Amino acid sequence: MIKSNYDIVIIGGGVQGLALAYNLAKNKFGSIAVIEKSYIGSGASSRNGEMLRSAFASNEWIQFFDKSMQLWETLSAELDFNVMFTHCGYLVLASTSKEFELCRENVNTQHSFGLKTKLLNQRDVLKLIPALNPEMVSGGTLQSNGGFARHDAVVWAYAGAAKRLGVDIFPYTEVTGIQVEAGTVRSVKTSKSEISTSLVVNAAGGHAGDVAGMVGVSLPSQTYRLEMIVTEPLKPFLHPMLASLNTLSYMHQSTRGEFVGGAETETLPPAKSLKSTLVATQDMARKFTKLFPGLASARLMRQWGGIVDMTPDIAPVIGPVKKIEGFILDCGWVYGFVGAPAAGELLAQYIMTGKMPPEIQPFNVERFEKGEPIIDRSLVVPSETETEGGAA
Ligand SMILES: Cc1cc2nc3c(=O)[nH]c(=O)nc-3n(C[C@H](O)[C@H](O)[C@H](O)COP(=O)(O)OP(=O)(O)OC[C@H]3O[C@@H](n4cnc5c(N)ncnc54)[C@H](O)[C@@H]3O)c2cc1C
Repeated sequence: MIKSNYDIVIIGGGVQGLALAYNLAKNKFGSIAVIEKSYIGSGASSRNGEMLRSAFASNEWIQFFDKSMQLWETLSAELDFNVMFTHCGYLVLASTSKEFELCRENVNTQHSFGLKTKLLNQRDVLKLIPALNPEMVSGGTLQSNGGFARHDAVVWAYAGAAKRLGVDIFPYTEVTGIQVEAGTVRSVKTSKSEISTSLVVNAAGGHAGDVAGMVGVSLPSQTYRLEMIVTEPLKPFLHPMLASLNTLSYMHQSTRGEFVGGAETETLPPAKSLKSTLVATQDMARKFTKLFPGLASARLMRQWGGIVDMTPDIAPVIGPVKKIEGFILDCGWVYGFVGAPAAGELLAQYIMTGKMPPEIQPFNVERFEKGEPIIDRSLVVPSETETEGGAA
Protein backbone atom coordinates (compact mmCIF):
# COMPACT_ATOMS: atom_id res chain seq x y z
CA MET A 1 0.00 0.00 0.00
CA ILE A 2 1.50 3.32 -1.07
CA LYS A 3 1.59 5.88 1.75
CA SER A 4 0.46 9.42 1.09
CA ASN A 5 3.83 10.90 2.03
CA TYR A 6 7.48 9.84 1.69
CA ASP A 7 10.70 11.70 2.53
CA ILE A 8 12.05 10.64 -0.86
CA VAL A 9 10.60 9.05 -3.98
CA ILE A 10 13.01 7.27 -6.31
CA ILE A 11 11.70 6.80 -9.83
CA GLY A 12 13.04 3.60 -11.36
CA GLY A 13 13.59 0.16 -9.85
CA GLY A 14 16.79 -0.59 -11.72
CA VAL A 15 20.18 -1.17 -10.17
CA GLN A 16 20.75 2.58 -9.74
CA GLY A 17 17.47 3.38 -7.99
CA LEU A 18 17.69 0.30 -5.79
CA ALA A 19 21.35 0.85 -4.84
CA LEU A 20 20.49 4.40 -3.81
CA ALA A 21 17.43 3.28 -1.83
CA TYR A 22 19.52 0.66 -0.01
CA ASN A 23 22.25 3.14 0.90
CA LEU A 24 19.79 5.76 2.12
CA ALA A 25 17.98 3.19 4.26
CA LYS A 26 21.27 1.85 5.62
CA ASN A 27 22.01 5.40 6.80
CA LYS A 28 18.53 5.73 8.35
CA PHE A 29 17.44 8.50 5.99
CA GLY A 30 13.67 8.33 6.60
CA SER A 31 10.79 7.02 4.52
CA ILE A 32 11.79 5.87 1.04
CA ALA A 33 9.64 4.74 -1.89
CA VAL A 34 10.95 3.20 -5.11
CA ILE A 35 8.41 3.43 -7.93
CA GLU A 36 8.90 1.06 -10.86
CA LYS A 37 6.55 1.00 -13.81
CA SER A 38 7.21 -2.67 -14.61
CA TYR A 39 8.96 -5.42 -12.64
CA ILE A 40 12.16 -4.49 -10.80
CA GLY A 41 15.21 -4.80 -13.01
CA SER A 42 13.07 -4.71 -16.14
CA GLY A 43 15.21 -1.96 -17.68
CA ALA A 44 18.86 -2.08 -18.75
CA SER A 45 19.82 -3.47 -15.35
CA SER A 46 18.97 -7.01 -16.36
CA ARG A 47 19.73 -6.63 -20.07
CA ASN A 48 23.40 -5.68 -19.84
CA GLY A 49 26.67 -7.47 -20.49
CA GLU A 50 27.40 -7.76 -16.73
CA MET A 51 30.97 -6.57 -17.31
CA LEU A 52 32.89 -4.91 -14.48
CA ARG A 53 36.03 -2.82 -14.77
CA SER A 54 37.58 0.42 -13.54
CA ALA A 55 40.51 0.43 -15.99
CA PHE A 56 39.38 3.52 -17.86
CA ALA A 57 41.43 6.38 -19.27
CA SER A 58 40.40 9.59 -17.52
CA ASN A 59 40.98 10.62 -13.91
CA GLU A 60 37.25 11.12 -13.35
CA TRP A 61 36.22 7.71 -14.64
CA ILE A 62 39.02 5.82 -12.90
CA GLN A 63 38.49 7.51 -9.53
CA PHE A 64 34.74 6.92 -9.50
CA PHE A 65 34.64 3.42 -11.01
CA ASP A 66 37.52 2.13 -8.91
CA LYS A 67 35.61 3.14 -5.81
CA SER A 68 32.79 1.01 -7.23
CA MET A 69 35.11 -1.94 -7.94
CA GLN A 70 36.19 -1.88 -4.31
CA LEU A 71 32.56 -2.03 -3.22
CA TRP A 72 31.88 -4.93 -5.61
CA GLU A 73 34.45 -6.99 -3.67
CA THR A 74 32.21 -7.15 -0.59
CA LEU A 75 28.79 -6.66 -2.18
CA SER A 76 27.53 -10.23 -1.68
CA ALA A 77 28.36 -10.08 2.04
CA GLU A 78 27.03 -6.54 2.39
CA LEU A 79 23.67 -7.41 0.81
CA ASP A 80 23.56 -10.97 2.17
CA PHE A 81 22.93 -12.36 -1.31
CA ASN A 82 25.36 -14.02 -3.69
CA VAL A 83 25.74 -11.70 -6.69
CA MET A 84 28.24 -14.17 -8.17
CA PHE A 85 31.02 -11.65 -8.72
CA THR A 86 33.71 -13.57 -10.62
CA HIS A 87 37.25 -12.22 -11.04
CA CYS A 88 38.06 -13.58 -14.45
CA GLY A 89 39.94 -10.44 -15.50
CA TYR A 90 39.02 -7.77 -18.04
CA LEU A 91 41.08 -7.16 -21.17
CA VAL A 92 40.78 -3.96 -23.21
CA LEU A 93 42.08 -5.05 -26.60
CA ALA A 94 44.13 -2.82 -28.89
CA SER A 95 44.19 -3.79 -32.57
CA THR A 96 46.37 -0.99 -33.97
CA SER A 97 49.61 0.62 -32.84
CA LYS A 98 47.66 3.82 -32.10
CA GLU A 99 45.28 1.93 -29.82
CA PHE A 100 48.24 0.19 -28.17
CA GLU A 101 49.82 3.58 -27.42
CA LEU A 102 46.51 4.67 -25.94
CA CYS A 103 46.54 1.57 -23.70
CA ARG A 104 50.12 2.43 -22.64
CA GLU A 105 49.02 5.97 -21.64
CA ASN A 106 45.94 4.64 -19.90
CA VAL A 107 47.93 2.12 -17.85
CA ASN A 108 50.17 4.93 -16.61
CA THR A 109 47.12 6.95 -15.54
CA GLN A 110 45.55 3.86 -13.95
CA HIS A 111 48.76 3.14 -11.99
CA SER A 112 48.75 6.71 -10.66
CA PHE A 113 45.40 5.83 -9.03
CA GLY A 114 46.79 2.58 -7.62
CA LEU A 115 45.16 0.20 -10.10
CA LYS A 116 47.18 -2.93 -10.75
CA THR A 117 46.58 -3.09 -14.48
CA LYS A 118 49.10 -4.61 -16.88
CA LEU A 119 50.06 -3.53 -20.36
CA LEU A 120 50.17 -6.66 -22.54
CA ASN A 121 51.95 -6.90 -25.89
CA GLN A 122 50.68 -8.92 -28.84
CA ARG A 123 52.37 -12.13 -27.68
CA ASP A 124 50.98 -11.82 -24.14
CA VAL A 125 47.45 -11.30 -25.44
CA LEU A 126 47.63 -14.25 -27.82
CA LYS A 127 48.99 -16.43 -25.02
CA LEU A 128 46.04 -15.41 -22.85
CA ILE A 129 43.44 -15.84 -25.62
CA PRO A 130 44.90 -18.02 -28.44
CA ALA A 131 41.56 -18.03 -30.30
CA LEU A 132 41.91 -14.32 -31.19
CA ASN A 133 42.71 -13.39 -34.78
CA PRO A 134 46.41 -12.28 -34.57
CA GLU A 135 45.70 -9.57 -37.14
CA MET A 136 43.33 -7.94 -34.64
CA VAL A 137 45.83 -7.99 -31.78
CA SER A 138 48.43 -5.37 -31.10
CA GLY A 139 48.26 -5.56 -27.31
CA GLY A 140 45.95 -4.49 -24.52
CA THR A 141 45.33 -3.63 -20.90
CA LEU A 142 44.52 -6.37 -18.42
CA GLN A 143 42.72 -5.65 -15.16
CA SER A 144 42.94 -8.92 -13.27
CA ASN A 145 40.42 -7.91 -10.57
CA GLY A 146 37.83 -7.08 -13.27
CA GLY A 147 35.15 -9.58 -14.15
CA PHE A 148 31.40 -10.00 -14.09
CA ALA A 149 28.45 -10.48 -11.73
CA ARG A 150 24.96 -11.81 -12.39
CA HIS A 151 22.82 -8.78 -13.18
CA ASP A 152 19.48 -10.19 -12.04
CA ALA A 153 21.07 -11.34 -8.77
CA VAL A 154 22.41 -7.83 -8.18
CA VAL A 155 18.98 -6.27 -8.66
CA TRP A 156 17.33 -8.80 -6.32
CA ALA A 157 20.15 -8.38 -3.79
CA TYR A 158 19.71 -4.61 -3.59
CA ALA A 159 15.91 -4.86 -3.59
CA GLY A 160 15.88 -7.51 -0.83
CA ALA A 161 18.36 -5.63 1.36
CA ALA A 162 16.50 -2.33 0.85
CA LYS A 163 13.16 -3.94 1.77
CA ARG A 164 14.62 -5.46 4.92
CA LEU A 165 15.68 -1.95 5.93
CA GLY A 166 12.14 -0.64 5.43
CA VAL A 167 12.18 0.70 1.87
CA ASP A 168 8.80 0.44 0.12
CA ILE A 169 9.18 -0.81 -3.46
CA PHE A 170 6.20 -0.55 -5.79
CA PRO A 171 6.52 -2.49 -9.04
CA TYR A 172 3.93 -2.08 -11.82
CA THR A 173 3.36 1.52 -10.75
CA GLU A 174 4.15 4.27 -13.21
CA VAL A 175 5.11 7.84 -12.36
CA THR A 176 2.94 10.01 -14.59
CA GLY A 177 3.70 13.49 -13.27
CA ILE A 178 5.65 15.52 -10.75
CA GLN A 179 4.13 18.59 -9.18
CA VAL A 180 6.42 21.56 -8.63
CA GLU A 181 5.38 24.74 -6.80
CA ALA A 182 7.57 27.85 -6.64
CA GLY A 183 10.50 25.88 -8.04
CA THR A 184 10.25 23.13 -5.39
CA VAL A 185 9.10 19.54 -5.74
CA ARG A 186 5.78 18.96 -3.92
CA SER A 187 4.40 15.62 -5.05
CA VAL A 188 4.62 12.71 -7.44
CA LYS A 189 1.64 11.38 -9.37
CA THR A 190 1.62 7.67 -10.05
CA SER A 191 -0.76 5.37 -11.90
CA LYS A 192 -2.10 4.32 -8.45
CA SER A 193 -2.07 7.43 -6.25
CA GLU A 194 -0.41 10.76 -5.54
CA ILE A 195 2.50 10.91 -3.07
CA SER A 196 3.50 14.08 -1.34
CA THR A 197 7.28 14.51 -1.09
CA SER A 198 9.95 17.19 -1.36
CA LEU A 199 12.65 14.97 -2.86
CA VAL A 200 12.54 13.02 -6.11
CA VAL A 201 15.35 11.09 -7.77
CA ASN A 202 15.25 10.47 -11.48
CA ALA A 203 16.72 6.97 -11.90
CA ALA A 204 14.49 6.12 -14.86
CA GLY A 205 17.24 4.84 -17.17
CA GLY A 206 16.26 5.11 -20.84
CA HIS A 207 13.15 7.06 -19.77
CA ALA A 208 15.07 9.65 -17.73
CA GLY A 209 14.39 12.29 -20.38
CA ASP A 210 10.61 11.78 -20.06
CA VAL A 211 10.79 12.02 -16.25
CA ALA A 212 12.94 15.19 -16.42
CA GLY A 213 10.37 16.60 -18.86
CA MET A 214 7.74 16.25 -16.10
CA VAL A 215 9.46 19.12 -14.25
CA GLY A 216 10.37 21.03 -17.41
CA VAL A 217 14.04 20.02 -17.37
CA SER A 218 15.70 19.08 -20.63
CA LEU A 219 18.52 16.58 -20.19
CA PRO A 220 21.63 16.72 -22.41
CA SER A 221 21.10 13.03 -23.21
CA GLN A 222 19.20 10.80 -25.60
CA THR A 223 17.92 7.25 -25.41
CA TYR A 224 19.77 4.57 -27.37
CA ARG A 225 19.20 0.87 -27.77
CA LEU A 226 22.18 -1.43 -27.22
CA GLU A 227 21.94 -5.03 -28.40
CA MET A 228 23.59 -8.30 -27.48
CA ILE A 229 23.75 -11.84 -28.85
CA VAL A 230 24.34 -15.26 -27.33
CA THR A 231 25.65 -18.32 -29.17
CA GLU A 232 25.15 -21.99 -28.46
CA PRO A 233 27.50 -23.34 -25.74
CA LEU A 234 31.07 -23.74 -27.01
CA LYS A 235 34.25 -25.26 -25.59
CA PRO A 236 36.06 -22.78 -23.30
CA PHE A 237 38.13 -20.31 -25.35
CA LEU A 238 37.62 -16.92 -23.70
CA HIS A 239 38.43 -16.61 -20.03
CA PRO A 240 38.59 -12.85 -19.36
CA MET A 241 36.00 -10.25 -20.24
CA LEU A 242 37.05 -8.55 -23.46
CA ALA A 243 36.35 -5.07 -24.85
CA SER A 244 37.65 -4.24 -28.32
CA LEU A 245 38.49 -0.57 -28.91
CA ASN A 246 38.70 -1.17 -32.64
CA THR A 247 35.33 -2.78 -33.18
CA LEU A 248 33.48 -1.03 -30.32
CA SER A 249 32.40 -4.38 -28.97
CA TYR A 250 32.47 -6.25 -25.66
CA MET A 251 32.15 -9.93 -24.96
CA HIS A 252 32.72 -12.88 -22.66
CA GLN A 253 32.06 -16.59 -22.46
CA SER A 254 29.53 -17.65 -19.86
CA THR A 255 30.11 -20.48 -17.40
CA ARG A 256 27.74 -22.54 -19.60
CA GLY A 257 30.06 -21.96 -22.57
CA GLU A 258 27.89 -19.49 -24.45
CA PHE A 259 29.66 -16.62 -26.19
CA VAL A 260 27.87 -13.45 -25.09
CA GLY A 261 28.64 -10.15 -26.78
CA GLY A 262 27.42 -6.73 -27.75
CA ALA A 263 28.65 -4.14 -30.21
CA GLU A 264 27.86 -0.54 -30.96
CA THR A 265 27.29 0.42 -34.54
CA GLU A 266 29.40 3.52 -35.26
CA THR A 267 26.32 5.52 -36.23
CA LEU A 268 23.89 4.64 -33.51
CA PRO A 269 20.44 6.21 -34.07
CA PRO A 270 18.48 7.18 -30.93
CA ALA A 271 15.80 4.56 -30.18
CA LYS A 272 13.44 3.66 -27.36
CA SER A 273 12.20 0.38 -28.75
CA LEU A 274 13.53 -2.84 -27.24
CA LYS A 275 13.06 -4.70 -30.51
CA SER A 276 16.31 -6.23 -31.71
CA THR A 277 17.34 -5.71 -35.29
CA LEU A 278 18.94 -7.64 -38.15
CA VAL A 279 21.32 -4.70 -38.76
CA ALA A 280 22.73 -5.17 -35.26
CA THR A 281 22.95 -8.97 -35.66
CA GLN A 282 24.92 -8.56 -38.86
CA ASP A 283 27.18 -5.91 -37.33
CA MET A 284 27.89 -8.09 -34.29
CA ALA A 285 28.42 -11.24 -36.39
CA ARG A 286 30.89 -9.36 -38.62
CA LYS A 287 32.84 -7.94 -35.68
CA PHE A 288 32.91 -11.08 -33.56
CA THR A 289 34.05 -13.34 -36.41
CA LYS A 290 36.72 -10.76 -37.30
CA LEU A 291 38.04 -11.04 -33.73
CA PHE A 292 37.40 -14.79 -33.38
CA PRO A 293 37.36 -16.50 -36.81
CA GLY A 294 36.39 -19.75 -35.05
CA LEU A 295 32.98 -18.26 -34.23
CA ALA A 296 31.96 -18.35 -37.91
CA SER A 297 30.33 -21.76 -37.49
CA ALA A 298 28.70 -21.03 -34.11
CA ARG A 299 24.90 -20.90 -34.06
CA LEU A 300 23.11 -17.94 -32.51
CA MET A 301 20.69 -18.82 -29.73
CA ARG A 302 19.20 -15.47 -28.91
CA GLN A 303 19.49 -11.69 -29.14
CA TRP A 304 18.05 -8.87 -27.09
CA GLY A 305 18.06 -5.10 -26.75
CA GLY A 306 18.08 -2.72 -23.82
CA ILE A 307 17.84 1.05 -23.69
CA VAL A 308 20.20 3.47 -22.01
CA ASP A 309 20.19 7.22 -21.42
CA MET A 310 23.36 8.41 -23.13
CA THR A 311 24.99 11.84 -22.69
CA PRO A 312 27.30 13.31 -25.34
CA ASP A 313 30.39 12.25 -23.34
CA ILE A 314 28.87 8.88 -22.25
CA ALA A 315 29.41 9.79 -18.58
CA PRO A 316 26.48 9.84 -16.14
CA VAL A 317 24.71 12.92 -14.81
CA ILE A 318 24.46 12.79 -11.03
CA GLY A 319 23.21 15.40 -8.58
CA PRO A 320 20.81 18.34 -8.41
CA VAL A 321 19.52 20.54 -11.21
CA LYS A 322 19.67 24.33 -10.86
CA LYS A 323 16.07 25.30 -11.39
CA ILE A 324 14.12 22.71 -9.40
CA GLU A 325 14.74 22.28 -5.70
CA GLY A 326 14.40 18.65 -4.65
CA PHE A 327 14.83 17.11 -8.11
CA ILE A 328 17.97 14.96 -8.29
CA LEU A 329 19.48 13.19 -11.28
CA ASP A 330 20.93 9.69 -11.23
CA CYS A 331 20.85 9.03 -14.95
CA GLY A 332 22.85 9.15 -18.17
CA TRP A 333 24.24 5.72 -17.35
CA VAL A 334 25.96 3.59 -19.97
CA TYR A 335 28.34 1.87 -17.53
CA GLY A 336 25.71 2.00 -14.82
CA PHE A 337 25.93 -1.64 -13.77
CA VAL A 338 29.57 -1.45 -12.66
CA GLY A 339 28.96 2.06 -11.32
CA ALA A 340 25.91 1.26 -9.17
CA PRO A 341 27.57 0.41 -5.83
CA ALA A 342 29.57 3.67 -5.79
CA ALA A 343 26.76 5.81 -7.18
CA GLY A 344 24.34 4.44 -4.59
CA GLU A 345 26.71 5.09 -1.71
CA LEU A 346 27.97 8.52 -2.83
CA LEU A 347 24.64 9.95 -3.95
CA ALA A 348 23.11 8.83 -0.64
CA GLN A 349 25.91 10.71 1.13
CA TYR A 350 25.09 13.85 -0.87
CA ILE A 351 21.36 13.55 -0.12
CA MET A 352 22.02 13.01 3.61
CA THR A 353 24.63 15.75 4.08
CA GLY A 354 24.22 18.23 1.22
CA LYS A 355 27.96 17.81 0.53
CA MET A 356 28.90 16.48 -2.89
CA PRO A 357 31.51 13.69 -2.62
CA PRO A 358 34.53 14.44 -4.86
CA GLU A 359 34.18 11.18 -6.82
CA ILE A 360 30.77 12.19 -8.21
CA GLN A 361 31.22 15.96 -8.33
CA PRO A 362 32.64 15.92 -11.91
CA PHE A 363 29.49 14.22 -13.18
CA ASN A 364 27.28 17.27 -12.57
CA VAL A 365 24.90 18.15 -15.36
CA GLU A 366 26.28 21.70 -15.74
CA ARG A 367 29.46 20.40 -17.37
CA PHE A 368 27.73 20.48 -20.76
CA GLU A 369 26.62 24.12 -20.42
CA LYS A 370 30.15 25.01 -19.39
CA GLY A 371 31.61 23.12 -22.35
CA GLU A 372 33.55 20.80 -20.04
CA PRO A 373 32.66 17.26 -21.08
CA ILE A 374 34.61 14.39 -19.54
CA ILE A 375 36.68 12.77 -22.26
CA ASP A 376 37.52 9.11 -21.69
CA ARG A 377 39.36 7.36 -24.50
CA SER A 378 38.85 3.80 -23.30
CA LEU A 379 35.12 3.45 -23.90
CA VAL A 380 33.63 1.08 -26.44
CA VAL A 381 30.62 3.25 -27.20
CA PRO A 382 30.85 6.05 -29.76
CA SER A 383 30.62 9.49 -28.13
CA GLU A 384 29.77 12.85 -29.68
CA THR A 385 32.60 14.55 -27.85
CA GLU A 386 35.48 12.23 -28.79
CA THR A 387 35.66 10.43 -32.09
CA GLU A 388 39.38 10.20 -32.74
CA GLY A 389 40.82 6.73 -33.23
CA GLY A 390 37.48 4.97 -32.94
CA ALA A 391 38.22 4.48 -29.27
CA ALA A 392 35.46 6.64 -27.97
C1 LIG B 1 22.95 -4.33 -24.02
C2 LIG B 1 23.53 -3.58 -22.86
C3 LIG B 1 24.79 -3.93 -22.36
C4 LIG B 1 25.33 -3.24 -21.29
N1 LIG B 1 26.50 -3.69 -20.73
C5 LIG B 1 26.97 -3.14 -19.59
C6 LIG B 1 28.10 -3.68 -18.94
O1 LIG B 1 28.67 -4.69 -19.37
N2 LIG B 1 28.55 -3.06 -17.81
C7 LIG B 1 27.93 -1.95 -17.29
O2 LIG B 1 28.40 -1.42 -16.28
N3 LIG B 1 26.82 -1.45 -17.86
C8 LIG B 1 26.33 -2.02 -18.99
N4 LIG B 1 25.18 -1.53 -19.57
C9 LIG B 1 24.53 -0.35 -18.99
C10 LIG B 1 23.78 -0.66 -17.72
O3 LIG B 1 22.93 -1.77 -17.90
C11 LIG B 1 22.95 0.56 -17.33
O4 LIG B 1 23.78 1.70 -17.30
C12 LIG B 1 22.30 0.39 -15.95
O5 LIG B 1 21.54 -0.79 -15.90
C13 LIG B 1 21.43 1.59 -15.65
O6 LIG B 1 20.68 1.31 -14.51
P1 LIG B 1 19.43 2.22 -14.15
O7 LIG B 1 18.89 1.71 -12.88
O8 LIG B 1 19.85 3.65 -14.24
O9 LIG B 1 18.44 2.03 -15.37
P2 LIG B 1 17.37 0.84 -15.69
O10 LIG B 1 17.86 -0.48 -15.27
O11 LIG B 1 17.00 1.02 -17.11
O12 LIG B 1 16.19 1.21 -14.73
C14 LIG B 1 15.33 2.29 -14.94
C15 LIG B 1 13.97 1.84 -14.50
O13 LIG B 1 13.09 2.95 -14.49
C16 LIG B 1 11.81 2.48 -14.81
N5 LIG B 1 11.00 3.64 -15.22
C17 LIG B 1 11.19 4.42 -16.32
N6 LIG B 1 10.23 5.38 -16.37
C18 LIG B 1 9.45 5.21 -15.28
C19 LIG B 1 8.30 5.87 -14.78
N7 LIG B 1 7.76 6.93 -15.41
N8 LIG B 1 7.73 5.42 -13.62
C20 LIG B 1 8.28 4.36 -12.96
N9 LIG B 1 9.36 3.68 -13.41
C21 LIG B 1 9.94 4.11 -14.54
C22 LIG B 1 12.07 1.49 -15.92
O14 LIG B 1 11.00 0.59 -16.09
C23 LIG B 1 13.34 0.82 -15.46
O15 LIG B 1 13.14 -0.39 -14.78
C24 LIG B 1 24.61 -2.17 -20.69
C25 LIG B 1 23.34 -1.83 -21.15
C26 LIG B 1 22.80 -2.53 -22.22
C27 LIG B 1 21.42 -2.17 -22.68
